[in-house]
Amino acid sequence: MYKTHSCGELRVEHLDREVTLAGWVNRRRDHGGVTFIDLRDREGIVQVVANPESSPSAHKVAEEIRSEWVVQVRGKVRRRPEGMENPNLPTGEIEVDIIDLNVLNPAKTPPFLINEEVEVDEMLRLKYRYLDLRRERMQQNLELRHRVVKFIRDFLDQRGFWEIETPILFKTTPEGARDYIVPSRVHPGEFYALPQSPQQLKQLLMVAGVEKYFQIARCFRDEDQRGDRQPEFTQLDLEMSFVEREDVIALSEQLFTELVEAVVPNKRLIAKPWPRFTYQEAMDRFGRDNPDIRFGLEIQDISDLATGCGFQEFERAVGAGSLVRWPKAKGAGSFSRREIDELTDFVKQYGAKGLAYVAIDEQGELKSPILKFFTDEVIDTIISRLSGEPGDLLLFVADERKIVSEVLGQLRLHFRDRMKLADDDVLGFCWILDFPFVVWNEDEKRWDPSHHLFTSPMPEDISLVDDDPGVARGQQYDMVLNGYEVGGGSIRIHERELQEKVFTLIGLDPEVAKERFGHMLEAFEFGTPPHGGIAPGIDRICMILAGEPNIREVIAFPKNQAARDVMAGAPSIVEDKQLEELNIRVIETEE
Ligand code: ASP
Repeated sequence: MYKTHSCGELRVEHLDREVTLAGWVNRRRDHGGVTFIDLRDREGIVQVVANPESSPSAHKVAEEIRSEWVVQVRGKVRRRPEGMENPNLPTGEIEVDIIDLNVLNPAKTPPFLINEEVEVDEMLRLKYRYLDLRRERMQQNLELRHRVVKFIRDFLDQRGFWEIETPILFKTTPEGARDYIVPSRVHPGEFYALPQSPQQLKQLLMVAGVEKYFQIARCFRDEDQRGDRQPEFTQLDLEMSFVEREDVIALSEQLFTELVEAVVPNKRLIAKPWPRFTYQEAMDRFGRDNPDIRFGLEIQDISDLATGCGFQEFERAVGAGSLVRWPKAKGAGSFSRREIDELTDFVKQYGAKGLAYVAIDEQGELKSPILKFFTDEVIDTIISRLSGEPGDLLLFVADERKIVSEVLGQLRLHFRDRMKLADDDVLGFCWILDFPFVVWNEDEKRWDPSHHLFTSPMPEDISLVDDDPGVARGQQYDMVLNGYEVGGGSIRIHERELQEKVFTLIGLDPEVAKERFGHMLEAFEFGTPPHGGIAPGIDRICMILAGEPNIREVIAFPKNQAARDVMAGAPSIVEDKQLEELNIRVIETEE
């Protein structure tokens, strides 16, 4: 080894020891003829000192070196002179008096500061990702992710799970996105698909008698990029045989509860056991099926009060079978006219025609352009029903159920961010259950699975799959954390007949179904155990535990928002010869 100790580990207990260190020059400064270097390695920083008197040749080298050079130091640990200790540094009581200083590799001036947390353009960070990852924040994120995955592996191993790898070159495994496909050279004109998840393979492992499987699995989905999406991402994929919904939920909840306590003890779970909501409840109370439950501002339905209330907008909405609902923002009662106009513009993006409000100022005075449409009695009822108090802003949207949920769900999040309503140290884990089994796809005029093709309907709703599919519920469960869906799973179909029925329901042509999923149907005829599983997203969970704003911050080498690796330059054009071998011709497009 080039070193006997790491920079960050040295303490007073090492006093008078001769040590050899190797690392990067974090900072260098000259003081009264003596050169001080903050030497950095993965474990931390230590001050090393080159004195021209005691070690003239080392001092000469020390004068040359610059930030980010890689050097090796031999020296003696000594106590820092009184008054010179640095309480902000774990190694701050000591320093290393240099005997020898050896340059292992010089460095060009980096394109951005590595030794300070400053705002750097993300494109530049991604281009020089290897330098970006040297920064303390990113090192912490890499370590956190390692701890998370290690905890998961140990936890599941102790409970009898086997980690099994499944192929990357496979066949379509739809999860609602486009496939990435890979041409086959040996079978001209044929393609593999990269798995959108190992869904079918883990189910087939249950047919194979594995009983408890998991994998830290890479998934590939070709979809439009957003803050929390990447073309490839990682899931904890797991599956169990002979289980019911409750078993998978209990195991997952225990895993992540213990993980949080062990890996991020500074964070607090909102509740143990985790709160549960039906899909409908989540939509009604929070406007979305991935609610952030760390703060109130719950939505309330006052459609019943709207009937005959005297305000036509409301009456019309309710009369047309739509809804009137309110969220309440505490402390927003003194918003200016302009601020309220901005809120109106905000909700219009989500399809609302308008936003009505009643502001209750600190003196309890009501301000609202719609007061004149109501009798005092109606107003009093509305306010007492919503427990409106001085300082509150009552906002309401009257529209179709879908729009009302979307708009008020977005408004809740808007107020969360604007008024800092959510505590970053709280982890609002919860479960969403009883999803609809299928959802109507208006464009294609057919039913789509609300989860995926292999999810089983609730046992008591199986007959509805034929009679009234829209009201059948699926055995699906979603794991939600701080407003993100961080995992989803289900109890699966394990009988051929029911699986075929579902294929038919969602309009999959029997021939196509056979071509794509014939292996699944066939496997179900060979003694398939009842089974179910889940797949929590490692990137999203690490992002939230690390307090980062997007998953790129917890992925070593992510793509940018245009799905490019800007460091290596991928995707890129390949040589004609390669295309020829693959029997592929590229058609020029206007772009
Ligand atoms: N394959 C599913 C997904 O990727 C998870 C599961 O059902 O286990 O969302």
